Amino acid sequence: MPSTNSCTTMPANCRVRPCATRSNGTTPSVGGHLWPNKGWLFDGASVNISRQTANLIFPFVSLLSFSSTNMSWFIRKDKGIQTPTEMKREAPDGLWYQCPNCKQVMHTREHKLNAYTCVHCNYHEKVGSDAYFSLLFDGNEFTELDENMISADPLGFTDTKRYPDRIRATVAKTGLKDAVRTAHGPMNGTEITVACMDFGFIGGSMGSVVGEKIARAIDYALANKTPFLMISRSGGARMMEAGFSLMQMAKTSAKLARLSEAGLPYVSLLTDPTTGGVTASYAMLGDFNIAEPGALIGFAGPRVIRETIGKDLPKGFQSAEFVLEHGFLDFIVDRKDLKDKLSSLLKMLN
Ligand SMILES: [Zn+2]
Repeated sequence: MPSTNSCTTMPANCRVRPCATRSNGTTPSVGGHLWPNKGWLFDGASVNISRQTANLIFPFVSLLSFSSTNMSWFIRKDKGIQTPTEMKREAPDGLWYQCPNCKQVMHTREHKLNAYTCVHCNYHEKVGSDAYFSLLFDGNEFTELDENMISADPLGFTDTKRYPDRIRATVAKTGLKDAVRTAHGPMNGTEITVACMDFGFIGGSMGSVVGEKIARAIDYALANKTPFLMISRSGGARMMEAGFSLMQMAKTSAKLARLSEAGLPYVSLLTDPTTGGVTASYAMLGDFNIAEPGALIGFAGPRVIRETIGKDLPKGFQSAEFVLEHGFLDFIVDRKDLKDKLSSLLKMLN
């Protein structure tokens, strides 16, 4: 601040322009004072008081014009608030859940207690094997089968990255070894074998490990005479294993035929989405094919079909409800009732 703008009667940091009595002895024509601890400016630009009030106190202030240089000291020059990320205060992660369908917010705990379905619109959130195992097995007690089986790279396949690198990255990201987990344990007191797919692992794609784990789980069900439940959620065959993926369709189908010969029940639960080679093999081979509400079920996706037939598709095409209406499903089950409905169904079959 130039000394000519200082005031002899006011605090040293007064921003008067010009001041009532200048330190160099000259008399200003107009002016006012800023009292830093009171936070207002008298030379026309009011901060905490209106301009009209300022005019009453200092009739001469109207002579001053507002200029950007006068006002810039209390107007933010920089756009946006520069707060470092680590200083930002936010609600802890995972406390609230927003339904992607109805956009309503609910507590994560409430959502979990409701079997990961929306309490407002019953939207069934896409969940993985962890959630299904805890929903189905009594006290979340189960024994996992072949939990360390991991994919090889039989074709030396590379797309945007090498297949082994992609597997390694996905294992690190998801904590899963492949797109299916198999386990056995009690469900309402009855022993059952379950295979459940995880969409988070390369789109739930079916490669050699998926096929082999399902085949071995069926072997376990056969050896121990337990019913078999398959929970599918998949985009189809895994392209990085090409022909080897397609072989899994035949392998799992053959194993399921053996299960059928042994008179053991096989229930296939189709969840959102179940498409491609998975729909074309084990997902549709159940003694009972059941689905969750609103699940997308199909072979090719709607866009491919629309482009192929050159026609618009009917409303709700490929939804579980549409597929049920056209005779490809036995029933649709709400996830909250899944365990009890499966138990009564298996009781009936025994
Ligand atoms: Zn909802």
